[in-house]
Amino acid sequence: MSLRTPSVLAAFNPDKAAFPTIETVGKLLASDKIKKVVVLAGAGVSTASGIPDFRSPDTGLYANLAKYKLPYPEAIFEIGYFQSTPQPFFTLSKELYPGNFHPTLTHYFLRLLNEKGKLLRVFTQNIDTLDRLAGLPAERIVEAHGSFATSRCIKCGTEVDGEWMKEKCLKGEIARCAEERCKKRTGGKGGLVKPDIVFFGEGLPNRFFERLSDLKEADLLITMGTSLQVQPFASLIDRVPSSCPRLLINLERVGDIGSEDSSSFSSGGLSSYFPLRESGFDFDGLSLRDKSDKRPIRDVFFQGKTDEGALELAGICGWEEELREIWAREKKVFDEQKAAAGASSEGATQSEKTGTDGLSAAEKEADKVAKEVSRAVEQPKSKRTDATESQHQDATGEDLAEQVSKLSVSTSTSAEEPRKETSHDQAGKKAEDRKPSL
Ligand SMILES: [Zn+2]
Repeated sequence: MSLRTPSVLAAFNPDKAAFPTIETVGKLLASDKIKKVVVLAGAGVSTASGIPDFRSPDTGLYANLAKYKLPYPEAIFEIGYFQSTPQPFFTLSKELYPGNFHPTLTHYFLRLLNEKGKLLRVFTQNIDTLDRLAGLPAERIVEAHGSFATSRCIKCGTEVDGEWMKEKCLKGEIARCAEERCKKRTGGKGGLVKPDIVFFGEGLPNRFFERLSDLKEADLLITMGTSLQVQPFASLIDRVPSSCPRLLINLERVGDIGSEDSSSFSSGGLSSYFPLRESGFDFDGLSLRDKSDKRPIRDVFFQGKTDEGALELAGICGWEEELREIWAREKKVFDEQKAAAGASSEGATQSEKTGTDGLSAAEKEADKVAKEVSRAVEQPKSKRTDATESQHQDATGEDLAEQVSKLSVSTSTSAEEPRKETSHDQAGKKAEDRKPSL
């Protein structure tokens, strides 16, 4: 088979007969050809920050929630359940509220991409706002599943003051709307106030649909730390131009064309009869019809944690030192502030209340990961790329964020953009089937 990469990639692939690699992509990224990178980010980019998984007995969060007898863990993010039983969500918010965690190297890599004039947009499935915290401007971010950044009353829609909501969340107290007219309608209590996180049963934010057009402008797509199991997010990889190189940085290879269609990846029509993906990444050139097919290979898979992929790219671009410095400097400030806050409000913060099994476990995890990262940074490149050894470390953030990712699942049909394609109806229905089953 005669392999060819798109002209932009080919220029940086010394061995024209070989598949492009992350190095090829890195060289392309470093060149002045790339100015509109679109990044699709999933739970994996935040894992190293130590965001706890509330299902894991190790974090203590599960134990905290046990007394609420959730029918299944995801119920905590269901709008119907929240309306009847809001306390579990606020108990969880206490642990998840942004500020407890420091952004990862990957988040700072995204910031650097922007500062180097390379970034068009980051679409993230995460609700942790760590990209904002790392200094990425809000206009560069599309929080596909919402975030804690803003909150409003679910009855009257009034947006509440961010600081007030933060206090409520950090105390684990149920937040209620103070609007008089809202109180009247709710027998004096006021409607429930909830962060603008997309719950099961809610639509995706307008901004997600408004910014879909960015994908058509992308000159490089980087997909990081996501299993691409959730629609409509998963379909975004097919919205970039056919000449746009696509890099996947993930622990597992996902989103392959021709792979079993376990998600709602199909593009409609015949796909319902053929359970294989018709679209998606084509790392192996499967879509080439025969040996003489000269169509280019433009998809690259880098197996590893997102921090490893980010370091790899930064290294090729000559930004590695800058990236390490900026992360270490800001981490130091974060740790100092956290220590100061802990000392000044003894007993008031969640870490004390949660006890030794709670946040302290998450902190230990974060420390562990931080050490791991600094070790990885120390290692020669060849070592770093061999990332599979510690693949199993990160159940913590992955699961929670994965669940949060699933939040939009049941809404993907109703939340369609105006010019929707029939394929999404399929996707929506299939996704519906995959609703929480624990
Ligand atoms: Zn209200």
